Amino acid sequence: QDTTRLKQYEGHELAAKLYHYLLNNTTHGQTAKSYLRSRGMSDRLIDEFSIGFAPDSWDTLTRFLQSREFDLELMEKGGLLSAKNDGSGYVDRFRNRIMFPIRNREGKVCGFGGRVMDDSQPKYLNSPESSLFAKSRIFYNFHASRPVIRKTRRAVLFEGYMDVIKAWSAGVKNGLATMGTALTEEHAAILQRHIDEAVFCYDGDDAGQAAILKSIPILEKAGLKVSVAMLPKGMDPDECITKLGPERFIRETMEHPVSATKFKLLYLRKDHTLLGEENRKNYVMDALGIVAQLESSTEREVYLKELSREFEISLESLKADCHRLVTEQQ
Ligand code: ATP
Ligand code: MN
Ligand code: MN
Ligand code: MN
Repeated sequence: QDTTRLKQYEGHELAAKLYHYLLNNTTHGQTAKSYLRSRGMSDRLIDEFSIGFAPDSWDTLTRFLQSREFDLELMEKGGLLSAKNDGSGYVDRFRNRIMFPIRNREGKVCGFGGRVMDDSQPKYLNSPESSLFAKSRIFYNFHASRPVIRKTRRAVLFEGYMDVIKAWSAGVKNGLATMGTALTEEHAAILQRHIDEAVFCYDGDDAGQAAILKSIPILEKAGLKVSVAMLPKGMDPDECITKLGPERFIRETMEHPVSATKFKLLYLRKDHTLLGEENRKNYVMDALGIVAQLESSTEREVYLKELSREFEISLESLKADCHRLVTEQQ
């Protein structure tokens, strides 16, 4: 119902304001503030992203909403509160966490991601799935990045909130993230309406790289051009910006994305040692399988030439084998 949803949005907007206020104006908020500082977040960024702090308390938000005569059951359904086990009322869902408000495409706060400030689990607690907050359809930062996305028809996909925020401060104003979930066909359908090209900038660890490999075909099926900005091994974008500085992050990573095919060919090296004739031949045969998926023969030739040079195999042989694979696929 419309009034129900409006109330839930209003509750989220107020919660975001409250958390942001508590971060900036309370003693406990100072601890959270120091944590954010230690992670390189300026006051300006904290304001721009309305970052907040949910104190270590069971009823701060609950009482705040109650005093404003919100229907608490409705707020629980919206994901801001949790019902007590004995059914006697409600408590704050987010406690002792740094709060990242998540806005929908219209810019309305519809959920939160909450991060602990130590090693406890879960590291991030997100709002539960609700009529306001559908993880398979929401991108973090879509609203704020919209102007640049519209202009460039391009978006950069990150894994985490911190990555989006730090990249934003480094000048990447078209960065998005999914809600800690894998990219779905629904996500792809939404992106397809707004952009022509997606650039992956996922974590430089095995999980991140595997996620890229899985997501490439989903985006390509939706008709998008895909490229990958590769990070130094093991680093995520946030760490990379902190360690190398924003300029080097832009220059060495964002400005030189590799094509989806190049990424697949690089990824393929993980499963192959390239020592010895037999191993090298196996790699080349698998690589041909990847190149053969390209529709344009001109494009195929670009990669075949590279393989020819590196593995000292004649372009003619590679072309012949690749052509055979292409015909087999049809
Ligand atoms: P940080 O830099 O704060 O440690 P991160 O973004 O680098 O966070 P990752 O472990 O790389 O964290 O996870 C990427 C993203 O996946 C997170 O930003 C978050 O959205 C999501 N995520 C991670 N852990 C969880 C969890 N336990 N529950 C829900 N989502 C999670
Ligand atoms: Mn990760
Ligand atoms: Mn990460
Ligand atoms: Mn990180």
